[in-house]
Amino acid sequence: MPSSSASSGYYHWTTVAIIASLAAATGGVVVIASAIASRRRLRLRRRDDEHDDDDDDDGDGTRNDRVGVGGTTTKVVEITLPEWADETSAHDGFSDMYARRYESDEEMMSLAIRISEHNVTMGTGGPFGACIFERKDGGHCELISVGMNRVVPLRNSTLHGEMVAIQLAQARLNTFTLSGVDGIGGDDNNVGVGRKFELFTSCEPCAMCLGGTLWSGVSRLVCAATKHDAQSIGFDEGPVSEGSYEHLENAGVEVRRNVMRDEAAGVLRRYGEIGLIYNRCPSGVSASGG
Ligand SMILES: [Zn+2]
Repeated sequence: MPSSSASSGYYHWTTVAIIASLAAATGGVVVIASAIASRRRLRLRRRDDEHDDDDDDDGDGTRNDRVGVGGTTTKVVEITLPEWADETSAHDGFSDMYARRYESDEEMMSLAIRISEHNVTMGTGGPFGACIFERKDGGHCELISVGMNRVVPLRNSTLHGEMVAIQLAQARLNTFTLSGVDGIGGDDNNVGVGRKFELFTSCEPCAMCLGGTLWSGVSRLVCAATKHDAQSIGFDEGPVSEGSYEHLENAGVEVRRNVMRDEAAGVLRRYGEIGLIYNRCPSGVSASGG
């Protein structure tokens, strides 16, 4: 298991880690978002005053309204991994994924594709998988987080595989950026100078996830299936062009595409025959992929 510097106070990152806190005043309403996370769960809160109740966690991964101190309403959004992918309960060939050393792009992409396929088999989301690895001295990689499409089960359009993996990696490392470039993130960057993280995804990112990749701080993006493979079964990847990848590369993110494309596209094709293409537009193109 990779090391982490995210221990803090009596909370430890493996159990509960407060990963972010921000406040903004808009129209007289104060919005505070905070996250409490384990590797498998990220909770985002919106509340309309400073009262809070940290005990109201039913752990079901669903969006809830809860009544806080003084009768205020707390909105809670949770991101959870399916049981088969959770570190504490992983099975079906995933139990050793955090303990392994990964030596090649193909090994790492194989994991992302297996996640995409198993997510469909188990009925825990759409046919997209993603992983974030840390590149270690000596060239091998270690797994930091996994993600898979959780849009329908968790009723959240932002939970594409890449976004889940990015958020859980940042929760684990207690940082808003995975960039180890000196000067990025300032005192709030807990990653440390020189560390490098790479995002592997079973399908080229949609417009949202390309943006998420850019802001995540990863130093490398590796993709399997293409946006055309996703669009061929009805998913819309949004406004993505070759210029999108050029933008990433100009920002210092190395991009490699078409790694094990055929295997990943096969998962998409099988899903297209049996699966739910959500948010399908009247034109026949769905509103979201990833
Ligand atoms: Zn996406």
